[in-house]
Amino acid sequence: MTKEIRIEKKVLSENERLAAELRNKMVLNGVLSLNIVSSPGAGKTSLLEKTLRALKDEFRIAIIAGDVQTENDAKRLIEAGGKWVRPLVTGGSCHLDARMISRELKNLDLKKVDLLIIENVGNLVCPSSYDLGEYMKVVVISVPEGDDKPLKYPGMFKRSGLMIVNKTDLLGTSDFSMDVVKKNALSMNQDLDILEISCRTGEGIEAWYEWLRKHIKRTKKKSV
Ligand code: MG
Ligand code: ZN
Repeated sequence: MTKEIRIEKKVLSENERLAAELRNKMVLNGVLSLNIVSSPGAGKTSLLEKTLRALKDEFRIAIIAGDVQTENDAKRLIEAGGKWVRPLVTGGSCHLDARMISRELKNLDLKKVDLLIIENVGNLVCPSSYDLGEYMKVVVISVPEGDDKPLKYPGMFKRSGLMIVNKTDLLGTSDFSMDVVKKNALSMNQDLDILEISCRTGEGIEAWYEWLRKHIKRTKKKSV
């Protein structure tokens, strides 16, 4: 084994340990935690803006907004009504890790949270290897990216529990086929849930809210 691989393995196992700790805390406090991953520009922040506007009075929502350089996304989420939004600027790193998350959560009383959303850095490669102690990874892809995304980034689709296909208002403007993207994604992970939405028109977004309600309820049940 080369030295680099050994170091990488050590980093990952330390991450697993911390992630398990985080996951335990979430379960104990009845917090549904989601790790949202996508390529840059798929619409993670737009999805979260919509979600906050729709559900901020129904649930207590906390958001960690990961970004490589700026705090712009966090600002948008605060404007959308986010009461607890933390920008997590990685300063160049292309993924978040469990240590960063536990640092951000130091000042948050998890008893007062129903839903924790972690917006990961826009990247479908290494975020798939870093467990953040989440209940589930949610992968967002968008129609302009093409229907072969799941084949290009199999690791991410294998490790996600839900795939959201955003920008369905752009269907018909390219060769993108919804049937093909679903087939490709399910060939990687037959248990994947799939939702089709357009953040721009709002089409299909109610199903995402229902999905959240269902999973928040389940998480609460498990904690008591
Ligand atoms: Mg963003
Ligand atoms: Zn990375």
